Amino acid sequence: MRLAFRLSRYNRYSFIPLFGFARRFGETLLCNSAHDILECSPHLVFYSFMSPHAPDVYSEVSRLRGMLKGTLFVAGGPHPTALPNEVIEEGFDSVVVGEGEGVFVKLLEDATKGRLKPVYRGSAGDFPLYSLADSPYTGPVELVRGCPFGCRYCQVSYMFGRRPRCRPLEQVLSEAEVLLERGRRFVRFIAPNALSYMSEDGVSPNVEVLRSLFSGLKALGVEQIFFGSFPSEVRPDSVTPEVVELMAQFCSNRRVVVGAQSGSPRMLELMGRGHGVEDVKRAVEILNSFGFEVSLDFIFGLPGETERDMELTLALIEELYGRFRVRVHAHSFLPLPGTPWAKASPAPIPKWVKRRLHMWERQGLLDGNWVQQERMGRVLCRMSA
Ligand code: SF4
Repeated sequence: MRLAFRLSRYNRYSFIPLFGFARRFGETLLCNSAHDILECSPHLVFYSFMSPHAPDVYSEVSRLRGMLKGTLFVAGGPHPTALPNEVIEEGFDSVVVGEGEGVFVKLLEDATKGRLKPVYRGSAGDFPLYSLADSPYTGPVELVRGCPFGCRYCQVSYMFGRRPRCRPLEQVLSEAEVLLERGRRFVRFIAPNALSYMSEDGVSPNVEVLRSLFSGLKALGVEQIFFGSFPSEVRPDSVTPEVVELMAQFCSNRRVVVGAQSGSPRMLELMGRGHGVEDVKRAVEILNSFGFEVSLDFIFGLPGETERDMELTLALIEELYGRFRVRVHAHSFLPLPGTPWAKASPAPIPKWVKRRLHMWERQGLLDGNWVQQERMGRVLCRMSA
């Protein structure tokens, strides 16, 4: 079988756990465009996408359907997991709900027999066994799946469950060996909260295990460890002097990404963040004191957010700019399917707030796709209506 994976800037890492299974069933083809798919005329083509990309994916699949006879289209990822029926109605033959690894072999066996089912449900079992060695390209090493917090705007807990599953240390180190064999001298990680690796409560860092992780990577010959920076981040309440001292000793990134989200205690409570504004200030202070610059995520236009809440967020940002070395990564709220706020309307972001965000952008203090996301929020709202 010819099995095509439709790669985009947003989903390259999502397919990595599947390549090992796919290889057993046929030729694995990487397609960067609809044109590539047409060229290779595959038996199956796999898409993985998030809600903001759904309209583009649907229009591409609709065009391809008219040109490819006999090709089956399979979707997975956060959007198909939340809305499998919509995805089938939009032209896909099959949808994988949840984690794909556990059901991928069954799906491929069924496809081989010509009996592909419309929906396959993956379950959140132990940490899935897969290796970067089976992937045609490299990527960050996945450390943790699942998150206990269930923030009302975020898909992680609703897609991967609330029980954080940590990849065993030996597996992480062996993934690093694969990267070294392929000529990569650095390692990055994927985790909802990198500091929760092997944490007992999902928040307090397990400093001893992290020390073993970092020293193990160094002993293997990894030259640069990037931890708590893209594509992962850390929660403010996980930041402690002890763990940051350890990071300063072993890690090469000079910037750490912290999820702050709001300066309004009321909004933090409504979102279910489980931390307060003081945790954010304390985390920034600790990180700065060990030489790390901090990139802070904030979300604007949250459901029920008032001008007073936004005023508190801007005041917090202003205070942090004045006291610390921070940058802000601004987001606009997106009503993501599968979350408790899937049907909630974004609060309007007043002009005076936008002016302030643009001013900080011009000063090089703030970045992020908040303008595009504000538009996308309205599109998602219409789609979910
Ligand atoms: S926003 Fe972060 S802490 Fe909240 S559920 Fe998502 S991954 Fe967990």
